[in-house]
Amino acid sequence: MDFNEFRDFGNSAIELVIRYLRDIRKRDVLPSVEPFSIIHALPDEMPEQAENWQSVLNDVENILMPALTHWQSPHFHAFYPSGSSMGSIVGELLIAGLGVLGLNWDCSPACVELEVVVLDWLAKFLRLPLHFQHSAEGPGGGVIQSSASEAILVAVISAREQMVRRMAKHLEMSESMIRRKLIAYSSDQSNSCIEKACKLACLPIKLLTTSDDYVLCAQELEAAIKEDLSRGLIPTMCIATLGTTGTCAYDDIKALAKICQRYQIWLHVDAAYAGAALALDEYAQLHDGLLDIDSLNINLHKLLMVNYDGAVMWLKDARKLVETLQVNRIYLENNEKTNKHDLPDFRNWQISLGRRFRALKVWIAFRTVGAEGLRSNLRKHMKLSTRFEKYILADNRFELVAKCTLGIVCFRVRGENKLTTRLLQRLLDRKRIYMVQSIHGAKIFLRFVICGMDTKDRDVDFAWTEIQNELSEMRVTQETFKIPDGIAKCESAINAICLEALGKRKSLNLGDMYLCNSSEKYK
Ligand SMILES: *Cc1c(COP(=O)(O)O)cnc(C)c1O
Repeated sequence: MDFNEFRDFGNSAIELVIRYLRDIRKRDVLPSVEPFSIIHALPDEMPEQAENWQSVLNDVENILMPALTHWQSPHFHAFYPSGSSMGSIVGELLIAGLGVLGLNWDCSPACVELEVVVLDWLAKFLRLPLHFQHSAEGPGGGVIQSSASEAILVAVISAREQMVRRMAKHLEMSESMIRRKLIAYSSDQSNSCIEKACKLACLPIKLLTTSDDYVLCAQELEAAIKEDLSRGLIPTMCIATLGTTGTCAYDDIKALAKICQRYQIWLHVDAAYAGAALALDEYAQLHDGLLDIDSLNINLHKLLMVNYDGAVMWLKDARKLVETLQVNRIYLENNEKTNKHDLPDFRNWQISLGRRFRALKVWIAFRTVGAEGLRSNLRKHMKLSTRFEKYILADNRFELVAKCTLGIVCFRVRGENKLTTRLLQRLLDRKRIYMVQSIHGAKIFLRFVICGMDTKDRDVDFAWTEIQNELSEMRVTQETFKIPDGIAKCESAINAICLEALGKRKSLNLGDMYLCNSSEKYK
């Protein structure tokens, strides 16, 4: 391919993205494809001869796009937003175009230095404690990882190694003996990636019970620490959350930090989603305790308008991370002249050796949106979720499960869980809007999250109409429900109710099932 063809190819690709994003409301947010349909639609082997780009783009449009779940659709309300912006998209193109890797300073000075600059910009924008900035005195600083999961993994490994080194000095115990005694803590509301990080790091973790408002309390943490100390274990780390995945609850960082300092354990804060709100006066209380934490992660690719991947992490003392992850080879050294600086070799702050020029898209996104634009995007998410919350509050068929915060509303249909799961299933079958469920205690609920690049009031209204209609349909039409073959195996009480209903109507409706189904047998 020559540059002229590349120009046409590139221009057409941008046109495709524009058409896609501009017309995204016309598509159902969920695709209508069966498993394996894409695999069957594509050849088994790569083409022997180069194909022209037009046919490749055609296949993107005709084969792949119908099989996408449209994360940028304003009707996507599942998981979390996959943030993006025009500037970030172009940044991603430039990253690929320049094609550099930034393992150390020599490998691309701009890669390292731009990352230092944007991380300090962001630390100031979020009003983080000064010691997290590269430009401040001291060993603190930030780095862009690929995901929150990776950021948390390197924090966990650093905390572990730190503790091993410290204990090896103080205890008459072999290193392997020490390793067997380490233990970490988080809450039962923490993201799955925390448990995974601890699995990968071979650090057992206790997921402590949260209070009724989904928050990890300091007393709970201290009780666990005391118990483990009395069993001869070595409490090593606590991973708290600002903005849990289930309901966006905020752990009490200030109180947790006191406990962690008392017992000298590493406190990491996972603020992947809600950390962006640190920039807002309305959320000033989220800053409480951040002075005393060891590390923090926030995703750019959720609320900060940078497309996946980009997860920022800051460390109070980055030397602890570097000590843990550094492995030297002669070919990885900066040349002697340039080595006389104390700029970070980010390869020692992460898992992989190579690293993308992510700072470029962050820089472009921040410059083309501006601090004001970032803040107003956050406020837009808040405003839209509040709009949805008002609808829920005004309809007594529904109840809120947690206070609405940032861009998330957690709600359920009053009554049995089955009503909520059935409602969700109907919505998923219709494919017009997309949400996922979550659970706390025995209560299943739905999370309505503001996502998409350009969600508006009318999109929230659309979702609300869908939800209302489906619930009304569900109740009004009293869908008939065929009795499963296995009815004979039912517990006798359920059996009796089913048969009674059968006798009357020869078919069961869902309402009957809700009444009688305390067992899982009809699943
Ligand atoms: C989204 C999220 C994660 C996972 O983020 P990845 O970047 O996908 O690894 C972890 N913790 C919280 C609180 C999150 O919101």
